[in-house]
Amino acid sequence: MIPPEAAWQRLEPFLKPLPSERLARRLARGRVLSEPTTAEVDVPPADVSAMDGYAVSGAVAGRSLPVAGTVAAGDPPGAECPAGTALRIMTGAPVPAGADRVVPVELTDGGAGTVAFHDDVAAGAHIRRRAEIVATGEPLLPAGARLTPGALALLATHGLEELAVHRAPTVRLLVTGDEVVPPDQRPRPGQLRDSHTDFLLAAGRQLGLEFEPLGIAADSVESLREHLDRGLAYDVLLVSGGVSMGAYDLVEPVFAELGCRPLFDAVALQPGKPLVFARHDRGWVVGLPGNPASVMVCYWLFVRPLLRVLQGFEDGLWHGALSGRLAGPLRAGGPRTRFLAAAVEMVDGEPRVHPAPPKGSHDQAAYARGRALVRIPLGAGPAAAGDPCEFLPLADWP
Ligand code: AMP
Ligand code: MG
Repeated sequence: MIPPEAAWQRLEPFLKPLPSERLARRLARGRVLSEPTTAEVDVPPADVSAMDGYAVSGAVAGRSLPVAGTVAAGDPPGAECPAGTALRIMTGAPVPAGADRVVPVELTDGGAGTVAFHDDVAAGAHIRRRAEIVATGEPLLPAGARLTPGALALLATHGLEELAVHRAPTVRLLVTGDEVVPPDQRPRPGQLRDSHTDFLLAAGRQLGLEFEPLGIAADSVESLREHLDRGLAYDVLLVSGGVSMGAYDLVEPVFAELGCRPLFDAVALQPGKPLVFARHDRGWVVGLPGNPASVMVCYWLFVRPLLRVLQGFEDGLWHGALSGRLAGPLRAGGPRTRFLAAAVEMVDGEPRVHPAPPKGSHDQAAYARGRALVRIPLGAGPAAAGDPCEFLPLADWP
């Protein structure tokens, strides 16, 4: 058994984003750029007005000038502002030659054909200069940038129709256990419904990934061999159950038989000790424990960061954890690092963390609550309400 940090370190030599593919911009939401992008146009494309007002030359306070015309957004550049006149101008319209500033309409009084100016504005005021945001050929977003809604808006401005992004990992799920039935079946005595598939499908969707279930394998070498073999054609195979010390926990020997090279098979976590990570020529296999709380904790701590690194994000064990304060007391930590589900609320600008201590690693209900994991370090003493704590936000934060 190794500490979680040591377990993550064993993954590190193999952690790198998946290769590139090209995707239409609108299909690339949530992906990560694998190549830098370059500006295709000057932004703004010309000197344009930042306000609705009047384009003039020089100081005009106290004067009335004839209005020589109007320039609107969409007019081509090239209008002229003859000396001693003003041109009515709209936001986004090209600034006419001869004008050196725009006086906002709020600082003027318009008459029939003339405009009176109350106040001056500085030379250059309310003019957005050509290419002041970015010039054609300059860098736009670097490789590694994530395609947020804002990033996609930027790339749309430059007309980038296809983007080079890291490929999304292909993930398959295999549930094991003679006692496990699909959730739409009523369990007979001794059976129970599979909850891992629903958890993992939903968790994958939060990453923009569609995991595909391979079904439920029986606790026999033959059944596991057949199902696992199919799963090895994908980037990541997540298997649940069958990795503990029981007589029917056969997943690890079948991994070995199929040529998977183990990186670790027990981690000092609570819940989640019998976690297995292994590599094969095409990718990764993960043996998740069978207990529902263990599956959740192992997913959040290890599988999610693995998938995000493959997607091109920066991630790691406990990456993105935040500091808060405990809402109530917590008992001392034990010989393994403990992780509890927690609800978090913001109180006076600070996260207040409400852990839900479970009855055990079968206490799925405790882990169904809350949207964060709180960490109780190995050997930590008892904590009181108000003590600082660290928590990892899960989905839909805050
Ligand atoms: P195992 O490590 O295979 O012995 O599984 C440990 C416990 O986890 C089993 O006794 C089941 O109660 C539970 N379990 C295993 N697989 C599932 C599943 N797919 N859904 C819900 N509970 C499960
Ligand atoms: Mg089992």
